[in-house]
Order: sequence, then C-alpha cells, then structure tokens
Amino acid sequence: MTDRLPVAVIGAGMSGIACARVLHHHKIPFQIIDRGRVVGGRMASRTIRDSGTAFDGHITDIGASYFTVQDPQFGLIVNSWIESGVARAWTDTFHVATPTGISGVRAGTMRYSATQGLRSILEHQVQGLPEHSVKPSTEVTSLSVTDGMVLVDNEKFGAAALCLPEPQAKKFVDENLIDIHNTLDEISWDAVIAVTSVFETEQLPQFDGVFVNEHPVLTWIANDGHRRGNNDPVVVAHVHPDLAALHLLEPSAVIPTVIDSLLPLLGLMKHPQWSSAMRWTYAKPTSARADLCFFDEEVGLGLAGDSWAGGPKVEAAWLSGHALGQQISQWWQK
Ligand SMILES: Cc1cc2nc3c(=O)[nH]c(=O)nc-3n(C[C@H](O)[C@H](O)[C@H](O)COP(=O)(O)OP(=O)(O)OC[C@H]3O[C@@H](n4cnc5c(N)ncnc54)[C@H](O)[C@@H]3O)c2cc1C
Repeated sequence: MTDRLPVAVIGAGMSGIACARVLHHHKIPFQIIDRGRVVGGRMASRTIRDSGTAFDGHITDIGASYFTVQDPQFGLIVNSWIESGVARAWTDTFHVATPTGISGVRAGTMRYSATQGLRSILEHQVQGLPEHSVKPSTEVTSLSVTDGMVLVDNEKFGAAALCLPEPQAKKFVDENLIDIHNTLDEISWDAVIAVTSVFETEQLPQFDGVFVNEHPVLTWIANDGHRRGNNDPVVVAHVHPDLAALHLLEPSAVIPTVIDSLLPLLGLMKHPQWSSAMRWTYAKPTSARADLCFFDEEVGLGLAGDSWAGGPKVEAAWLSGHALGQQISQWWQK
C-alpha cells in the first residue's frame, strides 16, 4: 500500500464531499476531482439570466428538489446547516395530482431546502476543507490500478473514491477491474428533464409542490419561489423518465409538451414568460442497495453515491460518502 499518495475523490456532489470531509478529519491527503465548473453535482442550482422577465437573479433548483432527514447523524449536520443559515425547513405538505388535476393534499415528513439553492450547501461544506481541495473542470477519462497505485489519467494516487453515478464511472474504469465493473453494472438509471418556467406574478396558485401520479408527461412540480422563500413565480416541473429518455439529445424540445400539461394541472390560463430545460441523463438509480458503500481493499478502490444506503436521495448520498470516507480512513491507518 502506497500510503503517502493522496486519495482521489472523483465527484464533487454530496457523496464525494462527505467522503472528503471524513478523510480531512483523519488528516488523510486527498484531491476531489470534478468535471463541473462548480461543486454540487445533482444538487444543482442555476441563476436565471437574460429571461426578459423581472426575475433574472432568481436562483432555481434544477436538480434535487429538497432533502429529507431520517438518520440522526445526518440530522446533526443538517441542524448545523440550519443554524448557519444555509438550509431551511421548507414544508411537510405537498399536493397530489392525477392526469385530470389536483386530487388532494398529503402531509408527510419535513422537506428541507436552501435559501441560496441546494448547491450552496455543498459550497458551504467545501469551506471546511483546505484550499484547492477541489479540482474543477477536470473530466476523468481513465482509471487503472498498477503496482499498488491508482492511476487517474496517469496521476498517481494511493486510493480512489468513485462518488458518481455508476454509468458515469464505467466510462473511465479500466475494463480489467472486473469486480468493480460487475458492481457498476448492477443498477440501471432513469433520466429526468427539469423544465423551469417563469410566470406572471399574480398567476400562481398557492402550493409548495405537487406529486403527479400516472401522468405520461410530468412526475413532480415544485414552486421554486416558495422553496427559496421569496415567492418569485418560478416553477420547476420534472418530466417522466420515459419521455425524458426520448428527449436527451434536445431537451428543450420537450418544453411545449410540459407546458401543455402544466397549465391545466395548475389551473393557469397564460403561458409562462420564459422556460428552460435541464437534462439529467443519469438522474436517479432505479433501485439502491442497503449497503452503505463498497470498498475493495486489494486495489484501494471505493464506490459511493445514492445507489447505496437505500438511495436515491441526498441523505443516502451523504451516508454513503461518509461511510466510504470512514472505510478508506480505517484502511489507510492499518
Ligand atoms: C432531477 C432530480 C431530482 C431529484 N430530486 C431529489 C429530491 O427531491 N430529494 C432528494 O433527496 N434527492 C433528489 N435527487 C437525487 C439527489 O440529487 C442525489 O441523490 C444526490 O445529489 C447524489 O449525490 P452524489 O454525490 O451521489 O452524485 P452527483 O451529485 O451526481 O455527483 C457526481 C459528480 O461527479 C461528477 N462527474 C461525473 N463524471 C465525471 C468524470 N468523468 N470526471 C469527473 N467528474 C465527474 C459530476 O459532475 C458530479 O458533480 C434528485 C436528482 C435529480 C437529478
């Protein structure tokens, strides 16, 4: 084991950053690598710009909608985010709809959001790490194991934590790592397209979110103004995975179909002033393991993310990344 080389953490989403924070706690050197310009992964927030509406500057959640808390350890860290003003308790009540319209209201567990968008939580998490912990805009294209080292695009590491959707990891992991590939092949993933729309101020009915059941176009509608806490008339609708899969090459082509479904469901007469589509080819695993993560001590390679820890959600990603960080730390200290 080459225990002086750093650990490569591939992915700066919730699981990768949770993993890195544990490594940092144990004083283990690491480098987070992400192909994105900024941290966040699927906890993605985008600022509306050049919309021609009065709501340029509104920060929209275009990936995960909210998160929930069950695990007490995750609850502790969420409380710290709330205390520092990053996260907020949003709502415990959503509407429910069928293709014919809103059919009721369902109260449930508390859903949490972030005043500056969910991505800001991960920016906050990174602030506790050393400077330059994250190498952005760097797409990993190859990963292999040789002489007890992990080579990530020919850079040497002592171990690697793959904290990203399996189909994305499969693209760069050496085919000779058969056990890793077999694990990466276990679960399939659904696509989602998130369509953000800005309406006229006075138009929106009072709702936080709508679970849309048995609808061929929509699965979920979020009132992003309520989620943000500023009441801006911004709505994010998620497209059914089967329809999303047909529009991955040109996501904006699905916008008219989404609006045609959205207007009657929300009882709106006027079309939005502006809409935009975001594609998630690997939005959610179709199932998830109960195991927290995977770590192969022989080769120093681990897997974490929301296809572990009961996924597919933000809390599972945190639990999984945190557990992988602990496993790598124990292995490192042997
Ligand atoms: C549309 C949508 C709605 C959702 N709604 C909810 C919800 O309401 N509640 C909830 O709890 N969860 C929700 N989720 C799921 C939640 O977003 C995820 O569970 C969580 O964010 C996963 O974090 P992660 O770190 O495992 O993966 P990701 O956030 O996907 O992080 C992986 C990172 O790896 C990077 N990467 C990929 N390939 C490479 C490469 N080759 N080289 C370098 N970097 C690479 C990516 O840029 C990304 O930053 C939703 C997800 C989507 C997409």
